[in-house]
Amino acid sequence: MNINLFVFSNDLRLDDNLAFTEACNQSDLLVCVYVDEPWQHQANQQGLTSLGEHRKAFLSESLSDLKAQLEDNGQILYFSNQSLISVIDSLSEQQPIRKVFKSNSVGVYENRLWRRCIDLFSDIEFLNFDTHTLFDSTLLPFELADLPETFSKFRKLIEAGDSPVAAMAKPENIPSPPDRLKVRGLHPYRALKNTEQSANSAEQAVFRGGSHSGWLQIEDYFSGRLPAHYKEVRNAIDGWDNSTKFSPWLANGSVSVRRLYERLTRYENEVEKNGSTYWIYFEFLWREYFQWYAKQHEAKLFRFDGIKQRKPLTSFYPERFKRWTDGNTPYPLVNACMNQLRQTGFLSNRGRQIVASCLVNELSLDWRYGAAYFEHQLIDYDMASNWGNWQYLAGVGADPRQKRHFNLEKQTEMFDADGEYRLAWGATEATEVLDSVDAADWPIA
Ligand code: FAD
Repeated sequence: MNINLFVFSNDLRLDDNLAFTEACNQSDLLVCVYVDEPWQHQANQQGLTSLGEHRKAFLSESLSDLKAQLEDNGQILYFSNQSLISVIDSLSEQQPIRKVFKSNSVGVYENRLWRRCIDLFSDIEFLNFDTHTLFDSTLLPFELADLPETFSKFRKLIEAGDSPVAAMAKPENIPSPPDRLKVRGLHPYRALKNTEQSANSAEQAVFRGGSHSGWLQIEDYFSGRLPAHYKEVRNAIDGWDNSTKFSPWLANGSVSVRRLYERLTRYENEVEKNGSTYWIYFEFLWREYFQWYAKQHEAKLFRFDGIKQRKPLTSFYPERFKRWTDGNTPYPLVNACMNQLRQTGFLSNRGRQIVASCLVNELSLDWRYGAAYFEHQLIDYDMASNWGNWQYLAGVGADPRQKRHFNLEKQTEMFDADGEYRLAWGATEATEVLDSVDAADWPIA
């Protein structure tokens, strides 16, 4: 009897999930688990935890949705807040596990942990699969080691090659879980315990977690003319309809990017295909690029000098960083963006570029603090997209030019001339000063 373990991670769906399909095909009985790794709740090098309240609330909804889907198929979603190593250890004491299945990750900690499991449990086979990308590594038109240094070169190679393969259906036969499973540290999933803050966050959220809600948003977006005008409005600083808002579901995998690509193609066949619909695909390719970029560069994704081995000329000013996170800088547009991010867990691409440029250029801060703060706050946090974009803006990543410096006055004129956005996010007035003490620690009057 093959009793196997499936570990859900950033693939919180049953369809188009090769790892889950393989687990189903190769198992007589299957234990499905989501592991809330303890390190996610520990402060990182920047003193911030990875999982902030907005994403926690979204994740909790996503897991409840996944649990319901599994229950409809006679399965159970187990949950553990202990490390994967202890989950496998405790489970093996009860059941002889033959194989462990999981989606590939670009995370350095995740992969270290996975390799440690392989070393520790030599009688178990560990199998992992690409499920987070449009292409899998064998279908890329180049070896990963030859990943182009710039997005443009990557895009041209991808576009000259084959289209993504068709998304897979949900497995036809999903094996049952073992009867009466009682394992230390493992229990059927119950909604994550919300702090008062994350409960508030869930209540006010515009994004609801889970495949079901994700597809409601996707169908809503494709139901009218929005995709045919995407390119004209995608740069706006705010506004629900100005971009797709698919990112949170793509980030935790409750929606498959290949299935989404198919939905876009259907829109192009049935409604309209133009420069705007192409641009949505173009953005999916940015996401794709950063996934392979992160996989190739591994720990360099988090290094101060990035992949360029060129240290930016920045320092650390705790007060400036605090002002940036609190939306209390001398730049009202930046403050409005930071207020929106803190209060909702979301910010437009334009807003992200503006505040990142400000942190690096006006505030002369270490870009990794900005990236870590985004990691904590963003509802759509995706390791590859976040750290890759930050590197790009800080001039230590995939940008062929040096760092990007946005002129804040010009940005304000272009994207919030009437001041509506600043008003909406309580940032009409700005503090005059950046620092309250000078370099010798003397108070600045
Ligand atoms: P749309 O404009 O509708 O784009 C469609 C999809 O394409 C998005 O859902 C996303 O999956 C992808 N996409 C678009 N732009 C990018 C991009 N520049 N890089 C990678 N993928 C892209 N995106 C994340 O998903 N997670 C992150 O953690 C993240 N951190 C970022 C940090 C910085 C500093 C910057 C500048 C950008 C970051 N982005 C991140 C990219 C981008 O801002 C968001 O994907 C986008 O704003 C999400 O809104 P949307 O779904 O409406 O995007």
